[in-house]
Amino acid sequence: MKTPFNKPYMTGRETEYIRQAVETGKISGNGVFTKKCQQFFEERYGFRKCLLTTSCTDALEMAAILTDVGPGDEVIVPSYTFVSSALAFVRQGAKIVFCDSCRGNPNIDPTEIEKLVTPRTKVIVPVHYAGVACDMDAIMDIASRHNLLVVEDAAQAIDSFYTGRDGVRRPLGSIGHLAAFSFHETKNIISGEGGMLAVNDPRFIRRAEIIWEKGTNRAEFFRGEVNKYGWVDTGSSFLPSEIVAAFLWAQLENLDAIQSKRRSIWEFYREKLAPFAAKGLFSLPDIPTCATNNAHMFYLVFPGLEKRTRFIAAMKEREIQCVFHYLALHASAFYSGKHDGRALPNCDRFADCLVRLPLFYELDPEIVVNGIAETC
Ligand SMILES: *Cc1c(COP(=O)(O)O)cnc(C)c1O
Repeated sequence: MKTPFNKPYMTGRETEYIRQAVETGKISGNGVFTKKCQQFFEERYGFRKCLLTTSCTDALEMAAILTDVGPGDEVIVPSYTFVSSALAFVRQGAKIVFCDSCRGNPNIDPTEIEKLVTPRTKVIVPVHYAGVACDMDAIMDIASRHNLLVVEDAAQAIDSFYTGRDGVRRPLGSIGHLAAFSFHETKNIISGEGGMLAVNDPRFIRRAEIIWEKGTNRAEFFRGEVNKYGWVDTGSSFLPSEIVAAFLWAQLENLDAIQSKRRSIWEFYREKLAPFAAKGLFSLPDIPTCATNNAHMFYLVFPGLEKRTRFIAAMKEREIQCVFHYLALHASAFYSGKHDGRALPNCDRFADCLVRLPLFYELDPEIVVNGIAETC
């Protein structure tokens, strides 16, 4: 039997809620299911204002518009991330200044950020890789000293937390001025394609709603705050249909069950693979004490590219799909010509040596562990 890398998990009520949405006849965006989902996040995690979007990429584009960056401005982004973390700002005309990862994990290294800040810097984009928190105290401190905005790419970071030096535990996505989440089918909570913008700084709420609805003040009109609505700003059609929100609602109702199942798989991996890591075959994810683990991903870091390549091939022979992850964005076909040539050695190492193991609700992780025992 083949073990895929990912298998989208359905809770069983998705089609029932989609049917409800269809039968009420309200299937465009910002209806009952959209509001239920947004409220769920606002109440459970304390995000000031949530707006569902059609993807995390869209939520990042909304964030990029809200930060008002343009030509001449610089945005600091880790190079070890998905394209969208950078692309959203490139579309506004900003220059991306790529930052290296930490030595011990792929998250952006705050001591490197500090060296990259110039008078043109406007935004920092921390990406919580594998749902593990970046060093947000250090990042927010740099931002406040240099008057920068922070947009958290929390695509992988649903239901994960960061404990600051003040001892307070805060949900990821609630710390930066703005944050973007993904409900792509490869994430913990899914809607096929889908995402959400969380607005934490109240200065951005009104404009976020306008940008969300094609640059119109339609949301204010429906709340009875203005007596007609029209074109007041830039924007696009960022909101998903009620059909997508209905699907998402079925997932959110089961968030705790999904998370606890994923965590048990993750813990099984850690326990069973620790002896292999102790022998130096690979290293396991490093979760700093300030961060929680939302079990988005379990990865191994091999000592070199050839060892990783051989591992992936050996697992493939056993019909277990293990996959590497990001190619460094600073070396990409689209942006390498615009990169300033700085070496980003930690990013390069994760690009060459990191491999992700299958992790999904219905997985039997023992199959994967046995495969690893046979190959390593
Ligand atoms: C998945 C992901 C995205 C993109 O999410 P979409 O919803 O597919 O647009 C962006 N950033 C990171 C870090 C991701 O993991």
